[in-house]
Amino acid sequence: MSVMDIFETMDYGPAPEAASTALSWLKAHQPFNLFINNQWVKPTSGQYLDSINPATGKVLTQVASANSADVDTAVAAASSTFAQWSATPGHVRARYLYALARQIQKHARLFAVLEALDNGKSIRETRDLDIPLVARHFYYHAGWAQLMASELPGYEPVGVVGQIIPWNFPLLMLAWKIAPAIAMGNTVVLKPARYTPLTALKFAEIVQEIGLPPGVINILTGEASQVGEALVRHPGVKKIAFTGSTDVGRSIRRTTAGSGKKLSLELGGKSPFIVFDDADLDSVVEGVVDAIWFNQGQVCCAGSRLLVQENIADRLHAKLLARMERLRVGDPLDKAIDIGAIVSSAQLQEIQRLVAQGIEEGAQVWQPSWACPTDGYFFPPTLFTNVSPASTIAQVEIFGPVLVAMTFRTPTEAVELANNTRYGLAASIWSENINLALDIAPKIKAGSVWINCTNMFDASSGFGGYRESGFGREGGKEGLYEYLRPAWEVEQAAFSTSTFTEIATGEEHSSSNGASENGATHEENDEPDASFPSGTLPAIDRTPKLFIAGKQARPDSGYSRSVFDSAGRLIGEVGEGNRKDIRNAVEAAHKASGWASGTTHNRAQILYYMAENLSVREDEFARRIVQQTGRSYADARNEVQATLSRLFSYAAWTDKYEGSVHRPPLRGVVLALPEAIGVIGIACPDEYPLLGFISLLAPAIAMGNAVVVVPSQVAPLSATDCYQVFETSDLPSGVVNIVTGERDALSQVLAEHDDVDAMWYFGTADGSQRVELASAGNMKRTWVNYGRPRAWLDTQQGEGQEFLRASTQVKNIWVPYGE
Ligand code: NDP
Repeated sequence: MSVMDIFETMDYGPAPEAASTALSWLKAHQPFNLFINNQWVKPTSGQYLDSINPATGKVLTQVASANSADVDTAVAAASSTFAQWSATPGHVRARYLYALARQIQKHARLFAVLEALDNGKSIRETRDLDIPLVARHFYYHAGWAQLMASELPGYEPVGVVGQIIPWNFPLLMLAWKIAPAIAMGNTVVLKPARYTPLTALKFAEIVQEIGLPPGVINILTGEASQVGEALVRHPGVKKIAFTGSTDVGRSIRRTTAGSGKKLSLELGGKSPFIVFDDADLDSVVEGVVDAIWFNQGQVCCAGSRLLVQENIADRLHAKLLARMERLRVGDPLDKAIDIGAIVSSAQLQEIQRLVAQGIEEGAQVWQPSWACPTDGYFFPPTLFTNVSPASTIAQVEIFGPVLVAMTFRTPTEAVELANNTRYGLAASIWSENINLALDIAPKIKAGSVWINCTNMFDASSGFGGYRESGFGREGGKEGLYEYLRPAWEVEQAAFSTSTFTEIATGEEHSSSNGASENGATHEENDEPDASFPSGTLPAIDRTPKLFIAGKQARPDSGYSRSVFDSAGRLIGEVGEGNRKDIRNAVEAAHKASGWASGTTHNRAQILYYMAENLSVREDEFARRIVQQTGRSYADARNEVQATLSRLFSYAAWTDKYEGSVHRPPLRGVVLALPEAIGVIGIACPDEYPLLGFISLLAPAIAMGNAVVVVPSQVAPLSATDCYQVFETSDLPSGVVNIVTGERDALSQVLAEHDDVDAMWYFGTADGSQRVELASAGNMKRTWVNYGRPRAWLDTQQGEGQEFLRASTQVKNIWVPYGE
C-alpha cells in the first residue's frame, strides 16, 4: 500500500473521552435527593425517576421526584432567606458568583462528561461551548452584582423566582437563569428538565461547597405535572422564568395571568438562514453545520430554514450533500463525532413523524448513505428541498437535525420568507456585501441576527424572542431587568375609589419632598381658584368621533357614550367604539410602519411640536380636567404642565435611547439596538386623564411604535381634545389612533388581536388579568398595573426608562470582522 493509498483511505479512529470519573460520581451519590436549603432532602413522595443515557438507552442513575409539598418547602426556604440575601452587599454577592464561576471551571471536565452522558450531545460541544459559556455567565453577572448599587439605582429584586429549564442546554440554561437572578439579590427554586437533571445536581454540590447561604438556590428534580405546575402556581413565587416549548409557555402565561408574577418566556423558533448569491459558499456550508446540526438540531434558535438565492441554490445544495455525507453521528463521548444522540425516544419519534409528513407533503428528502448507530436514539442529518413555504415542515419547529430549504429571488422576497413564521427568535444572513446584510438585519423579526455567522452567544449580549418565540431577554443589561422591579412599586392594594381621589389630588404619591414637578406645593395646587369655581360649566355641545388613520371617524356602532362631571352632570359625549373600530384602528396603525424607520430627529421634532400646540391651549385643557374630575384649577393646570414636560422628556429620549455596542470574546461587535415593537394597544388610567394618556402614548410613539389608545373611560375628553393637537403637529396618519368607549371590552379586543404586538393596560385588577389571559393567543407582550396606582406626576413613577423598555425590544446584531 502506497502512502497515497493510506492517505486516501484514512478515516477517523475512535477518540473516546473516559466516562469513569463521572460514572463513579453518579454511583457515589445515587439516588439523588432534592436540594433545599443547601441540604439533600428526600422527596415527600418517596419516589425516584430514572435518568437515561440517550446514546445507549440505559439507566444512568435515579433522581428524586418532587411534588407540590416539596415545592412548598423549597419556596419557604427561598422566602426565608430572601430578606438576608437581597440585603447582602453587591460586593459580597459578586464574590459568591465569582466562586461559582471558579468552581465550574475547576470541575469543567466532569460537567462536560456528565452533560454528554445525560443529554446525548457531543463532548466537543459540552467541553468547548456549553461549560465555558456557563462559567462566563457567572463571571459576567458577578460584575453586575458588584455594580448593581451604582448602575441600577431605584431597582430592587423581585423575591423568590421560579425557574423552569429545558433539556437541550441543561447547565447553560441553568446559568442563564440563576446567574442574573442571584446577582440581583433574588432567591431561586429551579426545576431542571425531566430528561437532563444531572449537571444541575453537580452544580448544587458546588453551591454547598462554596458556602452560598442556604435557601438562595434550591433545585427540585421531578416531573412537569408535579413540580413545574406547582412552581408556576405558587403564590410565594414572584417571577417565573421559563425556557421551553411555545405551548407550555402559553399555558404558563394563562396560569399566571392576573397574579402579578413577572414572566419571561424563551420559546420555540423556526429561524431563517438566508444566503445571498455573493456569499462565500464554503463558509456557508460550515455555517449550516453549526446552525442545524449543532446539538442535533435541538436548539431553539437553530437555523432550520435555509433560504437560498435561486441562482446559487443547486450549487449550495450539492455542497451541502457532500458535507452531510462526511458528518459523523455516534457516541457523544467520542471527540471525533459531529452529531450525538437525540435526547429521548419520544423526541426521536417526533422527528421521525415530522420527516415522514414532509415526504408525504411532496418535499424531496436527502440523507447520507451511511446508517446511524442503532443502540441509542440517533437520527441522521437531513435536508429537504422543494419545500413549499406553507408546508408543515416549513412552519413547525422540528427540533432535530432536519433542514428545510427554500429559494428566493430578491432581498425583499428573502425578508418576506424569513418573516413568514409565527416565531421570531434568531436569523443568520450570509453575504459578502455588508451593506446588504446590514440593510436586511433590521427588517427581520428576530431577537438575534447573526451576520456571516450563526449560533453565537455571550453573557454580554441579550438573547430572546419576538412574537411566539416569547418575551424578555437573557444576558446583557436588559436581562437584569427581568429580575428587578422599581423600588417604589411596593405591593399595594388594588384601586379603591378613595385611592383614585388621593392620587388625583397628588396627596399620597408625589415626589418625596412634597413638591410636584413644576415646583408648586400641594397646598398651592389644591387652593380653589375663585375666578373659576369648578362644576359650573355648561355642557359642550360637541361629540368627538374616534380618531383613526389621522381622521375623525364615526363609531361603527352609531352610538355615543355620555361623559359626566364629578357631580354627575352631563358634560359631553364621545363615540362608543366597538370591535370593528378597533380592527380599523389596528389596520391603520399597521399602515404607519414607516414611522419606525423614519429618523429619530423627525420623531423628536413632532413630539416638540405636539407640546407647542398643546401649550397654546393650556388653559382650555386645564378647564377640561377640572370639568371632568372636579379638581381645582391650579391642580389641573399642574397636570397640563406636567404633560408638556413629559412630551419634552420623550422628545429628548427619542434620539438618546439608542442601545449599545457589546464586545464579546470574538473578533467583532454586537450591536444591541432597541427596536420598536410594532403596534401597541394602550388602555389609559382614569386618574390624570391628560397626563396618564400622554405618559403612555408619548414613549410608545417616541420609540417608533404606532398605537391604538383607549382613553380613560370616565374622563375621555382630555384625550379627544388632543385630536387637533395631533392633526396640527405633522404626526403621520395612523401613528396614533384613539377609540373611546368601554375600556375593558375594548382592551379585551386589543389583547386578543393577532396583529397587535403588545398591550398595555392601566385599569382594574380584573381587567389586568383578562388582558394577560387574552394575550396568550399570539404571546404578545403585556404591561399591566394589576389595579395598582401609579403616581403619574412623579417623574420616577410616571416617566423614564421603564416606559422606554416597555416600548422596545432589543435586537442583537452580531457582526464579526477580519479576514
Ligand atoms: P417543554 O416545554 O415541555 O419542557 C420544558 C420545561 O418545562 C421542562 O422542564 C418541563 O418539565 C417543563 N414543563 C413542561 N410542562 C410544564 C407545565 N405545564 N408547567 C410547568 N413546567 C412545565 O418541552 P419538551 O421537553 O416537551 O419539548 C417539546 C418541544 O418543545 C421540543 O420538541 C421543542 O420544539 C420545544 N423546546 C424548545 C426549547 C427551547 O429552547 N426553546 C427547549 C426544549 C424544547 P419536564 O422536563 O419534566 O417535562
